[in-house]
Amino acid sequence: MSRFDAIVVGGSVGGLSFAGEAAKRGLSVLVLEEHDEIGEPEKCDGLMSLRGLRRYGLAPSGGAIQSSVREGVIHPPSGTECSVDAGALEVVVIDRSRYDKQLAENASELGAIIKTGLRVQRAAEKGELVTVDAGQTYESDYLIDATGPASAPAGGILPAAKYEVEADWVEEGRVEVFVDRARYPGFFAWTIPYGVRRAKVGAAGRGINPFKALDALLESRPHKVIRRVAAPIYVGGPAEKFVSGRKVWVGESAGQVKPTTAGGIATSIGGGVIAAKWVAESVHSHDPSRLEGYEREWRETFEKEMRAMMRLRGVFERLSNREVDLLISTLSSPKLLARLGKSDFDFHATAFLSALGVVGLFTLARLVASAEVRQLLSP
Ligand SMILES: Cc1cc2nc3c(=O)[nH]c(=O)nc-3n(C[C@H](O)[C@H](O)[C@H](O)COP(=O)(O)OP(=O)(O)OC[C@H]3O[C@@H](n4cnc5c(N)ncnc54)[C@H](O)[C@@H]3O)c2cc1C
Repeated sequence: MSRFDAIVVGGSVGGLSFAGEAAKRGLSVLVLEEHDEIGEPEKCDGLMSLRGLRRYGLAPSGGAIQSSVREGVIHPPSGTECSVDAGALEVVVIDRSRYDKQLAENASELGAIIKTGLRVQRAAEKGELVTVDAGQTYESDYLIDATGPASAPAGGILPAAKYEVEADWVEEGRVEVFVDRARYPGFFAWTIPYGVRRAKVGAAGRGINPFKALDALLESRPHKVIRRVAAPIYVGGPAEKFVSGRKVWVGESAGQVKPTTAGGIATSIGGGVIAAKWVAESVHSHDPSRLEGYEREWRETFEKEMRAMMRLRGVFERLSNREVDLLISTLSSPKLLARLGKSDFDFHATAFLSALGVVGLFTLARLVASAEVRQLLSP
């Protein structure tokens, strides 16, 4: 068969969650993935909330979970570290390669066809014709772009890299974030433990060489590098439109990624599942205009949080190291940290702003010489 209701370009979290849900809703679906193996090469650190994926019935199986997170520690540029008890947040570290395979198996069992090792070269203007490099052409009523950062909205990409290391200093369940405007402008560095004495250590920032930043971070921490990966992250916020005619963007290609942390697993899966529901509505009713429901539903779920994240990002981008120190020491009150520990990992910006309260925001605006902080005060 070479004609399908929907063809998905990209076999990762966004595309595979779309494929499973669309097949469940009775559509014929073809997924085309350029790499020979689903989940490879693995780039992501796999930090995510189980709660987020349970919402879509796609929680990782036991085998894909590498460890649970019990504490989040922020290291300011020169001040004292602050720590959030993360035990109640249900945050885990997953093996992304295994998880993507789990999603692929689920989609196949539901009837989706997944072809690997096929790079889509060209999609026809209206999105109904797809040509792959083997010279094959497939046709579909709807085309789903789930190609990730390559198609993400312009301007939001930051260079990033990670090392997977073996080291004695790794404490299981203790995720660390390092903030330093000079070393990681516009972002931060991180360590994410997975398993015994193993961690994923990453760094990202505007205009930096992330490998040099990682080497500097790890200079005083003895380690053995097991794997090196360079991969950009996206922090530019959702695209203006997720739909054009019969073409639909899901996941990172639609900018469905948290602008604060560049975490995109839960939000991309949300994109895939919600898009599938509305593509199915459109196919069953022979009415492509039903696709607008996808954009509406995704935005109803995530838009408020994404806006809060973009505002926090705006503030963060402009702070000096001194202001970051000041901010973290002011904010690390036991009460605020306890409230954050009981919030929702996928909606952390809204949780942070509400935990801060109006008084906290005014304190912030007095401390930090930034117009953006004052902007946070506006409704
Ligand atoms: C270093 C790093 C660490 C990260 N850590 C986390 C984290 O801890 N937690 C979190 O939630 N998120 C994290 N992310 C973000 C997360 O990985 C992405 O947001 C998420 O994978 C986006 O999913 P996606 O399906 O939209 O795109 P992708 O996962 O990028 O997948 C796109 C797929 O499309 C395929 N493709 C592209 N073009 C074509 C073509 N022409 N033909 C066929 N196939 C094609 C690609 O091969 C790929 O498989 C991290 C990202 C990076 C880079």
